[in-house]
Amino acid sequence: MQIIGFRSPEEGDWASLRSLQYRDLHRGSLIRTAAHGIAAIILVGILLGKVPPLFLGGWMLSVFVAIFAATKIERALANIDQRRMTKAEYHRQAWTMTVLAAIWGVPILAFMPYGSLTDHLSVWAVMVMLIAGMSVLLAQVPVATIIFTSLCGISASASFVLAGQYDFAALTVIFCVMMIVGVLESSKVFLTARIAEMGVAEKEEVVSLLLREFEENEADWLWQVDPQRCVKAASPRFAFALGSEPSQVEGKRLIELIAGPNWQSGKSPPSLHELADRLKRRESFANLVVEVDLGDEHRWWELSGTPIFDERGNFAGFRGVGSDVTEQRESSEKIAYLARYDTLTGLPNRLMLTEALNEALRYAEQWRTRCSLLMIDLDRFKAVNDSLGHHVGDKLLAQVSKRLNAAMTDNEQVGRLGGDEFAVVIRDAERPGYIGEVAERIIHSLSAPYTVDDHTLYIGASVGSAVGPRDGVNVETLMRNADLALYRAKDEGGGEHCRFQPALHTDAQERLRLEASLRKAIENDELELHYQPVVSAMTEGVVSFEALLRWNSKEHGNVSPAKFIPLAEDTRLIVPIGDWVLRTACREATMWPEEIRVAVNVSGEQIIEPDFTKTIVRALSETGLPANRLEIEVTESIFLRDDRLARQVMEEILALGCSIALDDFGTGYSSLGYLRTMRFSTIKVDRSFVQGAAQQSPESLAIINAVVAMAQSLEISTTAEGVEDEVQAQLVRELGCTKIQGYYFGRPMPASEARTLVVRSRNSAVA
Ligand code: C2E
Ligand code: CA
Ligand code: CA
Repeated sequence: MQIIGFRSPEEGDWASLRSLQYRDLHRGSLIRTAAHGIAAIILVGILLGKVPPLFLGGWMLSVFVAIFAATKIERALANIDQRRMTKAEYHRQAWTMTVLAAIWGVPILAFMPYGSLTDHLSVWAVMVMLIAGMSVLLAQVPVATIIFTSLCGISASASFVLAGQYDFAALTVIFCVMMIVGVLESSKVFLTARIAEMGVAEKEEVVSLLLREFEENEADWLWQVDPQRCVKAASPRFAFALGSEPSQVEGKRLIELIAGPNWQSGKSPPSLHELADRLKRRESFANLVVEVDLGDEHRWWELSGTPIFDERGNFAGFRGVGSDVTEQRESSEKIAYLARYDTLTGLPNRLMLTEALNEALRYAEQWRTRCSLLMIDLDRFKAVNDSLGHHVGDKLLAQVSKRLNAAMTDNEQVGRLGGDEFAVVIRDAERPGYIGEVAERIIHSLSAPYTVDDHTLYIGASVGSAVGPRDGVNVETLMRNADLALYRAKDEGGGEHCRFQPALHTDAQERLRLEASLRKAIENDELELHYQPVVSAMTEGVVSFEALLRWNSKEHGNVSPAKFIPLAEDTRLIVPIGDWVLRTACREATMWPEEIRVAVNVSGEQIIEPDFTKTIVRALSETGLPANRLEIEVTESIFLRDDRLARQVMEEILALGCSIALDDFGTGYSSLGYLRTMRFSTIKVDRSFVQGAAQQSPESLAIINAVVAMAQSLEISTTAEGVEDEVQAQLVRELGCTKIQGYYFGRPMPASEARTLVVRSRNSAVA
């Protein structure tokens, strides 16, 4: 039914099956017309004289009219593969065939039963010939053939029945049935073949579409080489990729075309050698990325190729596809770069350093040597960043990076871990003293002054080192241990190199506990101020007290300021603590006679706080202490962080009416320049010079002499610190110091003792 067209097929649709059947129908029109014509003439020939000529003429005319109509319909179906066949067209064609078949059935039925058997059989023979012919010539359209065969068969067998020739009638039926079965069968074969053909065509179309798309994608091309590895059948696109014309690359060796002038010298990239190898060994390869040199430019190609063989199995070269991946490659290189380098400084980042350290550890293990990790932290960088802003901080970091890079040799790799932390991996640190030398080199180069946007900045560097595999067999441990050493180095005041020791672990834990306790020290009322008298070198009367902080911790007992003050500075706990110190000292000073001043130590971390001056104003106004009775003690280091900001804050403090003392003079960077440009009221000569002078050290004596001379010319007073006995007191007096502080005149004492001391000294003065 599906083949005939009575029912829609299970797969595909009715119209497309029909178009497969009917599209070539018109090709057989002529030969079918001829067959009908010849058969009609033979038939007329047989019947001429036995049947009225008018009838014969009319019949012949109707055959030709029907054939003409059929041909017309067949012509109209010629373009059926470009459109859908309609049911109407199908029916029209079938009806034409029915009419044609009916016309053919008329002679045998109308005259033969009454004529001779010979004539009857002759006519039947002509019809058989025509049925057979139609079955062959119209096999692809079974509906037409079946109609034609059935109708002719019915009229013929009817005529035989009427003539009483039953055996012929039966034969006719059998013949027609066989004919119909045969037609159906061959039609089915025909249709199956056409469907298969259609599948192939469809596939071809898909392949050509894919190829077209492939060729349209500009980066891709097909390439082919012959057994001598010379370019064969070069496509324009491939030639274009080579920067040339197909005719110019044809027959040239592929490797020579893409290797550039370096091929002969053997300096070509490894990827090219790999390609050459594969070609030589006739091995297929996929997505091989090769670096090609096209003379004026370097590009990256991704090539795939397979060896090809001819029908006899001989190697016939290679064929494959290629694409230019330069852009992707460049962006992935960029990504790889970004992943491994720090954008701000251009130094390797943590990831890359970790890899370098891993590699160094492996190397050390393999060759039984040592590697080392140096952690570097910039001293006072935070202050710069906080006070001058990130913009300046970033520029400073860039300069630091440059210096670090310049200080490295091939055996060392420097990188930035983040913030102001850097690290150096030393691959081979076997030579004794080597690590120390590198650390020294780093500290030295980073400690020289920097100029950023008109600011002269002084920062230093602390270095902590650990040795692998001794101090850690993996990256994590080594990093942690170097970090602990760094912590220790910073703890010791910065500008130092400290090596890792196992004891640092306990130190670090101790420090953490200390910090936790210090956080609660104010609220737990564990802080106390002691006051150390400063006396006049002439009268030995108390002129001021220096407030010195004491921490009596419930957990840690009495902790030395030398220990907890740096901790408080690191953690910025010094800000609230310093605030407390100021208020407490000012309040206490109100208990003393008016001429006795109070000196309060202030750290650099406090100075750079935005409202440091306000803190002082508040302390003064809350306690009612006149500003001229408060002396702020600062060290030179505050100018090293940020000279401009420090000077500005100093000016503000002076404007309040307070005075400023320069503490620990001589221990730091000791620039006499500060003395000239800042209005200090007092210079405190560090205890070490007093002790040195007492032991007749010429340097100490020279320094004290110079400071005193300078101070006198600037009308600044000088305090000698750490005077412990009568001899030292006499010495510093002779050297010209105007004030003396030290155990000889009084140790730091609780507030109550200071009070009784001033009352006593006043009484004695009165007396
Ligand atoms: P500094 O400002 O130089 O204070 C003087 C230090 O020398 C005090 O140590 C004091 O006890 C000690 N000293 C005084 N006379 C003598 C002497 O004759 N012989 C000897 N050997 N030592 C003497 P202290 O109290 O341990 O303070 C250490 C440092 O802690 C101070 O040095 C100061 O820099 C810091 N500090 C103390 N209190 C505060 C504070 O409230 N704020 C800040 N920011 N720092 C403070
Ligand atoms: Ca001091
Ligand atoms: Ca001091």
